Amino acid sequence: MNAQIVVGVGNIYAAESLFMSGIHPNRAANRVSLKRLTELVSMIKMVLQKAILAGGSSLKDFTGSDGKPGYFQQELLVYGRQNLPCVQCETPLKNLIIGQRASVYCPHCQK
Ligand SMILES: [Zn+2]
Repeated sequence: MNAQIVVGVGNIYAAESLFMSGIHPNRAANRVSLKRLTELVSMIKMVLQKAILAGGSSLKDFTGSDGKPGYFQQELLVYGRQNLPCVQCETPLKNLIIGQRASVYCPHCQK
């Protein structure tokens, strides 16, 4: 299994789940309340389930040969949408590099 693909897919799920939970990607995990963490876990499960329902039978289905997400992309709310308006508040989405990983988030909805 190609680790790059897995990392990429992990990034997608992380960005999407954090957006749906309203958690800023830079927030330290130990500074997130238990209630919001519980929400985050159920969001991750939901995002994964959506990805599976979107027709992916393997991780490769979610990533094209150009490294960008495949047909699952149309379901994405933040990933790959930097500078585009947030689906909830229309604030332009921002791109944030944490370590080696890029995360897209809404500066208004995610605290
Ligand atoms: Zn927003």
